[in-house]
Amino acid sequence: MESEVARDLRARATGGIMRKTQPAGSVRIARHRNFVNNTWVDAAATRTIVDPATGATIAVVPECDAADVARAIAAAREAFDHGPWRNVSAKDRGRILYQMAQLVRGHRDELAALETRNTGKPIVESEFDMDDAATCFEYYAGMATKIRGDTLSVPDNALNLTLKEPVGVVGLIVPWNYPLMLAAWKLGPALAAGCTVVLKPAEQTPLTALAFAKLVQQHIPDLPPGVLNVVTGDGPVAGRAIVDSMLVDKVAFTGGTETGRAILRGAADSNLKKVSLELGGKSPNIFFADADLDAATDGALFGVFINQGEVCSAGSRVLVQEQIFKPFMARMQAKTARITLGDPFKRATKMGPLVSEEHLDKVLRYIAVGKQEARLVMGGARRGGALKRGYFVDPTIFVTDNASRIAREEIFGPVVACIPFKDEEDAIRIANDTPYGLAAAVWSRDIFRCLRVVKALRAGIVWVNTMQPCYVESPWGGYKQSGHGREMSLQGQEEFLETKQVHINLSEAPIGWY
Ligand code: NAD
Repeated sequence: MESEVARDLRARATGGIMRKTQPAGSVRIARHRNFVNNTWVDAAATRTIVDPATGATIAVVPECDAADVARAIAAAREAFDHGPWRNVSAKDRGRILYQMAQLVRGHRDELAALETRNTGKPIVESEFDMDDAATCFEYYAGMATKIRGDTLSVPDNALNLTLKEPVGVVGLIVPWNYPLMLAAWKLGPALAAGCTVVLKPAEQTPLTALAFAKLVQQHIPDLPPGVLNVVTGDGPVAGRAIVDSMLVDKVAFTGGTETGRAILRGAADSNLKKVSLELGGKSPNIFFADADLDAATDGALFGVFINQGEVCSAGSRVLVQEQIFKPFMARMQAKTARITLGDPFKRATKMGPLVSEEHLDKVLRYIAVGKQEARLVMGGARRGGALKRGYFVDPTIFVTDNASRIAREEIFGPVVACIPFKDEEDAIRIANDTPYGLAAAVWSRDIFRCLRVVKALRAGIVWVNTMQPCYVESPWGGYKQSGHGREMSLQGQEEFLETKQVHINLSEAPIGWY
């Protein structure tokens, strides 16, 4: 909390992103405000944002309290209830979304650099994320004009049909691992439906959401005030203010399972707002003995170490058939030793720092647990030397069984639990023995076996002979404690729509009951 900075921000009249010259020798720090009703407003306090690769402060953003968030919600409510947005045609909503896609594509390099600076993820991955975000806006730009209801056959002399309408004011609460991409996954269908939104990025990684709002303000004058609002701040305060609000019709959330529980409780205790949840996972990546060893070990590493393991669908349980367990582990180890950890802006870097010091501590605590209960094969430490100021952790491999904590709890870092299994039945049993059900993968040259396993797995996304590809055309979401609802695809669109049944009596005769 920096009240001096807050005072300084309040003194300035314009601009979402402000730059202030710092004393000689220090870095220039970008200063931001909330985006509310198409203007930039201060909050009660501020928070500093750090570069996880160096620990240096890179920005100051608003730290909203409930009153700050209430202003954004009021703007979104007013825009939904009385603003021009509800009369904007589907065609024009689509056009606005297409402009958003073009903005992300046109500013891909600067947005990707900002994402890498803020999250620590390798620049090459941030570039993919920006492409993915733009593709998502394009998909839902096309979707806006395809939203439609049905006509139903009912027995009476009547016309019965359904209208699809926007669910209303939506709070979009997103995590720090794919900040702009996951915001786009929600903004696309929400705006295509005609909702108005309050977007709250994760407190650690708000920079690309704010930069996106700035681009929208500058380049899409047709977007009415109050349709897109961005507020920043802590989850239990700013996020909770959205969840508790009586003026919000729905919360679309991506984040941890415990936070998901709190959000459901908050929705139940307020106005029973609708909730969709994309939560955590402990996904099994299953390798049968006939899988191609080279492709399989590549897939095991990609499945768990991409984005430093900070991936909801990370294949953090690698299940390997006993016959190939030894050569599999040897090859996995050799490949892991070649992972380049370091400056996320270098194009050769394959693993950057973890997102924050707090998250680093959490991952190191799990590694300590693993050292007690499992066999450490490699890694298992914070990287020192030239990287000691950042939050770097060596890619870490454990051999364990499915009862260990490191095999049951989501670590969300570069830590993999490798577990041997006997046969197909054993693999399915272990894979499904988890409270989560987000994703799973199975590798084998025997397609009959693959399909049997696909059917037996309790997970929302199942890959065969690959892991992690993800497409806006296809639904994303979890079974069990990995969530409620689906994102992306036609199904993801439905999450932001209400269905109104309309029954039109075509008979002029009285009902004749009384
Ligand atoms: P988190 O739950 O701590 O935070 C996510 C968001 O929720 C943040 O914006 C945070 O400020 C907010 N928040 C926290 N407490 C809140 C509360 N009480 N009320 C309202 N909002 C609150 O999660 P995280 O650490 O940022 O992200 C990691 C988690 O996200 C992992 O569990 C991961 O699996 C999950 N995730 C899931 C998916 C998916 O598609 N299923 C995708 C990415 C991440």
